[in-house]
Amino acid sequence: MVTPEEIGRIEIFAGLDEVERERVSRLAADISLVAGEYAAHEGEERALFALLEGRIEPVKLVDGIERVVGVRHPGDIFGEVPIVLGTLFPVGFRAAENSRVMRLEAADYHAVAALQPNVAKEVGRLAAHRMGGSHGLSGLAAEPPPPRVIVAGHRWDPGCTELRRFLDLNQVTFKWLTPDTPDAPEQWGGPLPAEEDWPAIRIVDGKTVVRPQLRRAAELLGLGTEAVAGEYDTVVVGAGPAGLAAAVYGASEGLRTMVVEREAPGGQAGTSSRIENYLGFPSGVSGAELASRALQQARRLGAEILVTRAVTRIDAATLQLHLDGGDVIQARTIVLACGVAWRQLSIEGFDRLAGKGIHYGAARSEAPNTHGLDIHIIGAGNSAGQAALFFSTHARSVTILCRGGTLERSMSRYLIDQLAMRPNIQTLYRTELAAARGDISLEEIDVRDSATGDITRLPSGGLFIFIGADAETGWLPREIALDPRGFVLTGSDMRATGRWTLDRDPYLLETTVPGIFACGDVRFGPVKRVAASVGEGSMAIAFVHQYLRDAGWTEERPPDAPPHGAALPVDHASVSTSATAR
Ligand SMILES: Cc1cc2nc3c(=O)[nH]c(=O)nc-3n(C[C@H](O)[C@H](O)[C@H](O)COP(=O)(O)OP(=O)(O)OC[C@H]3O[C@@H](n4cnc5c(N)ncnc54)[C@H](O)[C@@H]3O)c2cc1C
Repeated sequence: MVTPEEIGRIEIFAGLDEVERERVSRLAADISLVAGEYAAHEGEERALFALLEGRIEPVKLVDGIERVVGVRHPGDIFGEVPIVLGTLFPVGFRAAENSRVMRLEAADYHAVAALQPNVAKEVGRLAAHRMGGSHGLSGLAAEPPPPRVIVAGHRWDPGCTELRRFLDLNQVTFKWLTPDTPDAPEQWGGPLPAEEDWPAIRIVDGKTVVRPQLRRAAELLGLGTEAVAGEYDTVVVGAGPAGLAAAVYGASEGLRTMVVEREAPGGQAGTSSRIENYLGFPSGVSGAELASRALQQARRLGAEILVTRAVTRIDAATLQLHLDGGDVIQARTIVLACGVAWRQLSIEGFDRLAGKGIHYGAARSEAPNTHGLDIHIIGAGNSAGQAALFFSTHARSVTILCRGGTLERSMSRYLIDQLAMRPNIQTLYRTELAAARGDISLEEIDVRDSATGDITRLPSGGLFIFIGADAETGWLPREIALDPRGFVLTGSDMRATGRWTLDRDPYLLETTVPGIFACGDVRFGPVKRVAASVGEGSMAIAFVHQYLRDAGWTEERPPDAPPHGAALPVDHASVSTSATAR
């Protein structure tokens, strides 16, 4: 318990009389932290803290990297800014050494402040001081995050496009230099590598690598690429919304959880410019932001996440996963969250110009390449509509090529209404793409009027394709039953195949192989949505617990287990068996 004497040693409470110190002492929580532990995380609910012993560092996440932005000594308070503004914590507070802090809940602080106006005045003064000035929070917010990487690459080099997209999806800030960047050597920090060796990357204050593989870039940036342990309670394949949700629930519920992602976290959602229908974000949220928050959450809770690693094979008998490069990981359970991949168009000129003005999906990193150009979107679904809105603030004009006579059948009303309000967006109906043309990059497209068959040639500075997606499940073992289109069958759909061999019923998301679950877009089912994927990813973990218990696994962590985030005890009672398919 925090004593009244200790309360008196905190500067803002020094003027309180004995009775008031007693009162604060009864309200305050006494918290001991080991070095590295957080008193409050960035984004947490407000509360007022005071440091009793040790040292605390305010930490801000920039680019997914923690940056220390100050220090608190015994007698100092922290949390005054969220308390005064009624906001969440704009920075986290981490113990730099073993420390002791007291915590006053917001309501308790306000009760004290109502009786002691001097305390409120001092907290207000400190909050204003923390926010102001170039070293204050407003200065931090105004300061553009310094790039972690400099990329030198040609605009129409698919290798450079892939690298920029990878950095963008992994939330790594970068500066991109092209041959026409005037002060390129100064920005690079010396002579640039020869152009024939581009794309090249320079990690700020670090190495230069020419023509890097994505995995090499990931290694240089400290993004996980190698498994720490050899065995996991659950291995999740894919880090889209379903996989990240499974990671968050798995890690937070005490499972040793590993996610393997062949590219970058976020999946399809990471390429969505604005998701308008995800609960809790009234103004919509960009897929990249949603993915970035989910990734931080999963990592903070202790999930291990590998990027640029693909699972190439699963052994159904042993539940071993083979990764590209030959690594083998032993899993007790597997969650397939590998989503779907864009359907490819096979049209004249496509393969040659892919990545040189032609793109599948709407990578945000391509936005600067469309400035002032006339671009085209192929597709008539919601993702095409969102992309048209996104690019309309960059390109001179956006034209949607729609095979049908109306958007109403395939696109949501709110998007159609928003498209109608943008003067630089138009839709060509009953129009199909016939060819793509250009020498170095896309220059023109041929479109066919499907009623008359007439071909028209249009100048085009960019073509973004949204014609649907297919499950890419050819690599899964034969033991896992699929529907004719390659989607993974689970629960009662799977049972109808007659291939379920156990006496017990399969769990709702269980595949034909006991202990292997599927969730999100890769699972056979009518709903392909972010919310459905997140829900299924979290449900899959409930079934993982049930499976581990049925299989006689204790779910106890072996003594050599890697360090793990906030591992909570597993509450089996909360795992409902009524959700199983019967
Ligand atoms: C442009 C666009 C806009 C959208 N807008 C919305 C919207 O507004 N609202 C909405 O609800 N939904 C929207 N969606 C749909 C939504 O994004 C998907 O339903 C959702 O992302 C599916 O999540 P998932 O995790 O199941 O799969 P995915 O998002 O497809 O993620 C699967 C991940 O698995 C990885 N992977 C695949 N195979 C392997 C392997 N063998 N090894 C390792 N990793 C692998 C992939 O690289 C990928 O990152 C949109 C989709 C797109 C493309």
